[in-house]
Amino acid sequence: MNKLESIYLPQFTIGEDAFDAFSVEMGRYGNKVVVVHGEKAWNASKEYVLPALSKAGLTVTGELLYGHEATYANMERIAASPEVKAADMVIAVGGGKCIDTVKLAADYAGKPVFTIPSIASNCAPVTKISIMYNEDGSFKDIPKLKQVPAHCFINPKIVLAAPVRYLWAGIGDAMAKHVESSWSAKAGEALSFGSELGITSGRMCFYPMLKDAAKAMEDAKQGTVSEELQNTLLNIIVSPGIVSVSVHPNYNGGVAHALFYGLTSRKHIEKNHLHGEVVSYGTLVNLIMDKDWEKLEQAYKLNQSIKLPVCLADLELEQDDPLEDVLEVTMANQELSHTPYPVTKESIRQAIRDLESYRPEA
Ligand SMILES: [Zn+2]
Repeated sequence: MNKLESIYLPQFTIGEDAFDAFSVEMGRYGNKVVVVHGEKAWNASKEYVLPALSKAGLTVTGELLYGHEATYANMERIAASPEVKAADMVIAVGGGKCIDTVKLAADYAGKPVFTIPSIASNCAPVTKISIMYNEDGSFKDIPKLKQVPAHCFINPKIVLAAPVRYLWAGIGDAMAKHVESSWSAKAGEALSFGSELGITSGRMCFYPMLKDAAKAMEDAKQGTVSEELQNTLLNIIVSPGIVSVSVHPNYNGGVAHALFYGLTSRKHIEKNHLHGEVVSYGTLVNLIMDKDWEKLEQAYKLNQSIKLPVCLADLELEQDDPLEDVLEVTMANQELSHTPYPVTKESIRQAIRDLESYRPEA
């Protein structure tokens, strides 16, 4: 036992007054900050962020638009900018692509990064990786960062300013984190401390959603910050983040995400459907393939109640579509490099067929 293992757990503050924590969390890194943001995100949040920074005694060296895509060109431009060079720390304000680009830029520039999510769709605000894309929008790679973000500030008021469908998709993506991590470790091999910690924490992405998610969606539509909404935000942003930063890469994926990548080879999926929405369909496929009837029934009923997809028609696909091209891409995906038992094109196609005729108990 002499192999070095480091785990950097997410640090966060949530609440309508989350920005009151700026002084304590950022003050120890200096007094000059640069804000790098998404366009809509900054419009929705600068009226809260800027006064809070000034109240915390922090000086803003600049407000930079990150760009419109998580590319290396944007990342390098940010890292080399005079406003970033003059700052002691960087604040990323935006959705997943903005935050991933800024995290990598801060890593290059050797500055601590703080995150303010403007939508609740994924765990990018607390993880130690960035998902990067090519200029044409296709997937490029996932570089690892030296650190997790120094702190994440979740202000529900800002998240509520974004369309509710991002929260909706975020629920679907988070639930997959539990299903995939526990499924991929179910062969029973010995797990490291980190994998055990991450997989155990992953339960938070699933069970609390069963009771909170529908209410959270209703409250978000009304603009009400309730306990169910705050719990749901935490279980979309923080809980999957704990899984992501703790587990061995073998346990960070599964059929739900592999099938998502396969399905995006159909243009209309990429165009009309959100990541977490498509993933939540894959979660049901993963569960029915695994004959995990209890979890399948729970997830299926939740999907039905908040109108996440439960069948091919919900993704604008025909029941008798052979999906040959989709399954080809699904099988080639790194998400399926570690499975608890052999998974084949045929077993996934059969699971998709079984899901079409599945009906939960009333
Ligand atoms: Zn995902």
